[in-house]
Amino acid sequence: MRKLWIGAAMAALLVTGCQAGTFHGADGTKNQAVVRESGAGDTAASGNYVNSADATDQVSRSSRPIVITSEPAVSMTNTDDMVTVTGSQVNIRSSATTASQRLGTVSQGETLKRTGKGDSWSRVVYNGKEAYISNRYITAKAAGQGNSPAADQQSGETIQNSSPGNQASSETVTFNTSWKYAEFSKISSGTATLYRSTAAVKKNHVICVNAGHGTKGGSSVKTQCHPDGSAKVTGGTTGAGATSAVAVSSGMTFADGTPESQVTLAMAKKLKEKLLAAGYDVLMIRETDDVQLDNIARTVMANNMADCHIALHWDSTEKDKGAFYMSVPNVASYRSMEPVASNWQKHNALGESLVAGLKNAGVKIFSSGSMEMDLTQTSFSTIPSIDIELGDKKSDHSDAVLNQLADGLLDGINRYFMS
Ligand SMILES: [Zn+2]
Repeated sequence: MRKLWIGAAMAALLVTGCQAGTFHGADGTKNQAVVRESGAGDTAASGNYVNSADATDQVSRSSRPIVITSEPAVSMTNTDDMVTVTGSQVNIRSSATTASQRLGTVSQGETLKRTGKGDSWSRVVYNGKEAYISNRYITAKAAGQGNSPAADQQSGETIQNSSPGNQASSETVTFNTSWKYAEFSKISSGTATLYRSTAAVKKNHVICVNAGHGTKGGSSVKTQCHPDGSAKVTGGTTGAGATSAVAVSSGMTFADGTPESQVTLAMAKKLKEKLLAAGYDVLMIRETDDVQLDNIARTVMANNMADCHIALHWDSTEKDKGAFYMSVPNVASYRSMEPVASNWQKHNALGESLVAGLKNAGVKIFSSGSMEMDLTQTSFSTIPSIDIELGDKKSDHSDAVLNQLADGLLDGINRYFMS
């Protein structure tokens, strides 16, 4: 079972680090903070699970959150066999819980030496060290024998197959203070929800959908901009040179008076439904007006639960200039700082895919489709992660337009994972 711990009380009162992303109109750029979403359970993709629902019905909506708890002590029977990975991208963990550190991922067809087997998890040798993988995504038979995962898979993570029918199952994800970079978050008492697709054909990827902004009190707390304490290399709501920034900014207000946070939420919900229908699992960072998760908490959750992180925003200019993504600044010191160094090319590739998808859906694209920005989200992301600006204060944000944008984003996500 997976369990996630709630971040210990984070002192909600402390000042938090910076988020890079928040900028406000002053310089015409955007005002957003970076939000992060996180995703997936412990499989990078949630591998093949047994479908609980009928294959025909795809998405399901609802799902009641399940609280997962963790159990550190897992009893295992010693084994000495080989297992084959059946999920497309499956997480390898430091211990038998999805709340533990993700050490890496393995792909479908790879084999691992197994030294222990429990009800839900197996202990395997990964890069020469002891690690754990969910039984749900492995099989004891050798690859090529044509068997399906069934026998050896139980539910490793707590996936709850909710009611038979067409409801997607979901799990509540709480912040785990032992996750990498967790200590940089100052607001982490909120929870995210991981939805499992019930579509007939699974994509085996968890998409973190992060509705930008929407954290009460988030703008009065600051968090560190970079893990290493270095200064921001670009401006934004928080100027270049700063080492801390607003934990979560409040966002801009559209020309018609609608708060950005309200539109990003509506956008997130539309995207979620389309992703679930298409077979993707979705980690929803925020589904109400307020979630007590700052940009770092959102990012860390995404890092540990999802395969990619997409933060939804609208810029603070008033030109109806079109959509673009925040690319990783071409600044040597920034691109050589971890975890940026190991991930910046993936961030930009995801951004390019999303813009291509939006363009294909008929969405107007701003300039070349990207703008360099040093964001807190980017600075702490260990998975492909992007802040996508879907328009600005003057942009139409009607239901029809949001649908068009969601179609474009889905197309972009498909492009990214198929490439
Ligand atoms: Zn924003």
